[in-house]
Amino acid sequence: MTTTETRYDTANPVDDRYAPPLTGEIEALRAVLEDGRLSGGAVNLPVYETALADYFGVRRALAVSSGTTAIDAALVAMGVGPGAEVLVPATAVGPTAMPILTRGATPVIVDTQPGSLALDPADVERKISRRTKAALVLPLWGYPNDERAAAAVLQQAGVPIVEDACQAHGTRIGGRHAGTIGRVGALSTHDRKLVATGEGGFLLTDDEELADRIDHYTHLGHLKSAVHGTNFKLGGLAAAVGLVRLGQLPRQLARRAANARRILDALPLDGLLRELVYGEDDTPNYYSLVLIAHARQAEIGAALASAGLPPDSIRWGYRPLYHRPLFSAYATACPNAEAFAASTFQLPVHPGLDDATLEWMAGQVAAIARGGNRS
Ligand SMILES: *Cc1c(COP(=O)(O)O)cnc(C)c1O
Repeated sequence: MTTTETRYDTANPVDDRYAPPLTGEIEALRAVLEDGRLSGGAVNLPVYETALADYFGVRRALAVSSGTTAIDAALVAMGVGPGAEVLVPATAVGPTAMPILTRGATPVIVDTQPGSLALDPADVERKISRRTKAALVLPLWGYPNDERAAAAVLQQAGVPIVEDACQAHGTRIGGRHAGTIGRVGALSTHDRKLVATGEGGFLLTDDEELADRIDHYTHLGHLKSAVHGTNFKLGGLAAAVGLVRLGQLPRQLARRAANARRILDALPLDGLLRELVYGEDDTPNYYSLVLIAHARQAEIGAALASAGLPPDSIRWGYRPLYHRPLFSAYATACPNAEAFAASTFQLPVHPGLDDATLEWMAGQVAAIARGGNRS
């Protein structure tokens, strides 16, 4: 076997971070530095925003300082403030729901459909109220979430959907880009995301009026003091990096899909692990490859961790949202989300993994899926 076999274990897991090779970032940064306008008013900002709108197929893209400020600005634009309630799936991570608290509003945690990231329409129906101003949904790990059932209930009640697509650049849901399904989508360009600018984020929407309001809010009301705003602007240097890396996104998506395919193809047909299900017209971006098991989950998690492939429940302590101290006051019974968190296993498939490592990973995962000890 390869020498990589002994490289990874509990104490030395496979790296889940990806630093893309440089493909013109330095030259792009130089151009901004030479121009001298580095702020959110830099001349390259509108170029970046137009490229984002084109790529994602929406009327407007608005670059902001982070995924968190993107979600926050979206909530502000939905009129979320003190006294308001915002629905959020129990499968959400802290950063999805944190902006609800920033707004002084109340998170209302909703269960998901069995084996899925999508909101359970029956639980939405139960938890919606006159105070509900928005519903957050999220394609976590870049996996498509089919929200059509919940969307019907929400639309009836006039509640807009805000997508936290912070991990989902390039994910397709029903043929459309994640982040363009709801009223507005929020994406992050933090280092860990598929378009990485250090810190940064952007919003996507087809609603021009909404986009104008978000633009004013995030740009200090463009200094006219007619409407209230704050400073969530993205600087010119980050935007320059973002434009170059957006251009590399299709290539990165293809590599991630090929890496995921390699592990999936090695899985035994009648084994314990399967890929998380998604629709025929859907495509994950493989932020992570997500496998699901319907039996022996604790054993599988432990075996993956000891192989140096810890699932998020072990690597990050991933649990339904209300297990976090900040959100424990909002706990409700979410049996589907509990089962989902306990039965899903995330694997890195980024382009930084070399051939030998991928081969070794495929062998390890296949052995664990067979229920035996790893080879
Ligand atoms: C990264 C992330 C955020 C926050 O984005 P930042 O740019 O780090 O503020 C929010 N939600 C999800 C699901 C994320 O992955």
